[in-house]
Parts: sequence; structure tokens; C-alpha cells
Amino acid sequence: MQIEINRAVIELAQGDITEQDTDAIVNAANESLLGGGGVDGAIHRAAGPQLLAECRTLGGCVTGDAKITRGYKLRAKYVIHAVGPVYYDGTRGEAELLASAYRRALDLAHAHQLASVAFPAISTGVYGYPMAAAARVAFATIREFLQTHAAPTLLRMVLYDARALQTHERVLQEFLAA
Ligand code: ADP
Repeated sequence: MQIEINRAVIELAQGDITEQDTDAIVNAANESLLGGGGVDGAIHRAAGPQLLAECRTLGGCVTGDAKITRGYKLRAKYVIHAVGPVYYDGTRGEAELLASAYRRALDLAHAHQLASVAFPAISTGVYGYPMAAAARVAFATIREFLQTHAAPTLLRMVLYDARALQTHERVLQEFLAA
């Protein structure tokens, strides 16, 4: 599924974020920036040990923020490490923190003049954020960003399995209809 907002394309695809050929891929990182499970582990494995070496120089990253590194052995030139919140019950600022993680990742893509970025569904794995609610936050944040920024012009959400893709397609359709 693909839609356009202010001349930028938002694309939903099923796949592995480590294989994306976008200028940057976004990592669902944790505050240490020193690797972990899920997407984070997969990105570090695919990028090689130089990625961890660069991450060690960054001094971590607070929840809701993002930092950028090179992509090393990845096809993507950059990795934007965004730290989403752990989901408790929705009353601890989770939505604001998730929106902030997306916004900071987009800010970095814009500052580096990147045309294309691929995102995983940040916080929806080990961090427990309900998939549909996280998708609403992602789309709202991306749309708001694109209202004031002309880049990036391709934003691809890369969903790991068919169910995650279907949920994102449904939420995006509802979002457009609202
Ligand atoms: P978090 O700690 O932010 O929840 P996870 O890595 O545990 O991060 O999961 C985030 C989302 O990424 C989950 O929906 C998970 O299914 C998905 N995911 C896991 N591996 C990959 C991958 N290689 N490419 C894209 N998405 C992935």
C-alpha cells in the first residue's frame, strides 16, 4: 500500500528492515545504543562490528530521542537509532514519547538531507506497544512532519509479518478516512 502526503510517498511493506535500500534505516534501539534483541540485534548483525564501535562513542540516547550513525555493511548509508518507550498502560506518556522518537528520527533524516527512510514498528516488539495504537502515532507524526518539511520524500514502514502489515494497512485507511 502506498499513499502520498505533500508530495512525499508513504509506503507499507512486509519485509526485513536490514535489507532496505533506503538512504537510512531506523533502528528500534534502547537507551544504551549498545545493541539488543529484535530489530536492533538484526541491524547490528547485518551492519557488522563497526556499528557497535560507533555507537559506543555516542553516550546512549534518552527515550523519545534519536541519534544517527553510518550504516557500514548495510545497503542503507545511515542508521538512525530511535528509542521508543516501554509500554505500561498508556498513561505514562507513551504516545508522546513514541511520537517524539519518530519526530527526532525524521529531524535527523531531514538534517542529513536524506530522500528515503525505512522505519520498523518502533516499540511494538519487546517494548509491548499495541500495534494499532503505535501505527496511529507513527502516521500522525509523519503527516505532521511532512506538513512543514519537504524531505524525506519516501517513508517506508517495513513490517515484519503479514499481521503487522495488515494492521498498518487498516489503520492507514482509517486515518485517511478520518
Ligand atoms: P522494541 O524493543 O522497540 O519493541 P523490537 O525489535 O522488539 O523493538 O520490535 C519492534 C518491531 O520490529 C516488532 O513489531 C518486531 O516484530 C519487528 N521486527 C523484528 N525484527 C525485524 C526486522 N528484521 N525487520 C523489521 N521489523 C522487525
